[in-house]
Amino acid sequence: MKPKVLAPSKEVISVTKNIIDKYGINTVCYSSKCPNISECFARGTATFMILGNVCTRNCRFCGVNKGKPLKIDEKEPIKIANAVKDMKLKYVVITSVDRDDLKDFGSNHWRRVIEKVNEINPDTKIEALTPDFQGDINALNLLVSSPAYKLAHNIETVKKLHKRLKPKSSYELSLKVLEYYSKFKITKSSLIVGFGESFKDIEKTLIDLKSAGVSQITIGQYLQPSPRHYPVKKYYSKEEFKELENLALSLGFSAVVSGELVRSSYYADKL
Ligand code: SF4
Ligand code: SF4
Repeated sequence: MKPKVLAPSKEVISVTKNIIDKYGINTVCYSSKCPNISECFARGTATFMILGNVCTRNCRFCGVNKGKPLKIDEKEPIKIANAVKDMKLKYVVITSVDRDDLKDFGSNHWRRVIEKVNEINPDTKIEALTPDFQGDINALNLLVSSPAYKLAHNIETVKKLHKRLKPKSSYELSLKVLEYYSKFKITKSSLIVGFGESFKDIEKTLIDLKSAGVSQITIGQYLQPSPRHYPVKKYYSKEEFKELENLALSLGFSAVVSGELVRSSYYADKL
């Protein structure tokens, strides 16, 4: 059965929306048409998306715009830092589109954003949910040596479906990136289910993530952003999400959030 999604209430989103509009910054909340907008904005949390809102990859489940990317906004670090301050965030998740068009894959801009957010908001914990940077070691080092409190990279789907759903990415490379991150910082990843994977496929991916040093995992239901996107093959029940949570805990993950509307940044501050 399709889960019920509450329509965002105008009142609860207005304060957060005003701050986002004031600085002209992007949020993954809007770009990915996240079903939790109402709840997260009401809690005063949001996930900022840097490096524009056009991605160079073409994941078949993703609602973010694809195509020719935008020029980098050099003022983005200070805009994000000020928005975090205005929103009085104690925990912020920053993510980005993939920028395969840039020589450094956007990593230097990533570093500037994290440093500026940290400079203006020294008490705010920063979770950096990053692309794979094509595994470039210089890019990864800019992240691991940054003031980010936690590093995350989403595997998104099981090995069997990876190439079909993420044609420009690699399951193995994502694991390598996570393995490198986990040598330096708390490391998190995220799985979306409902693409036609089996319980065994999920278990194998959880084992791969655990072996790569990932300690925190979120598991959520795939919801098709539009009829053009990959179709939903299965809606998991509450009991099945509980079963996946128990499985992840039994494999040794220290924090697991599993549920219908769970997204990688959902209740990130509580993990
Ligand atoms: Fe934004 Fe994440 Fe909340 Fe969705 S779950 S509304 S992306 S903060
Ligand atoms: Fe969407 Fe990320 Fe894939 Fe880009 S890399 S299409 S933002 S899921």
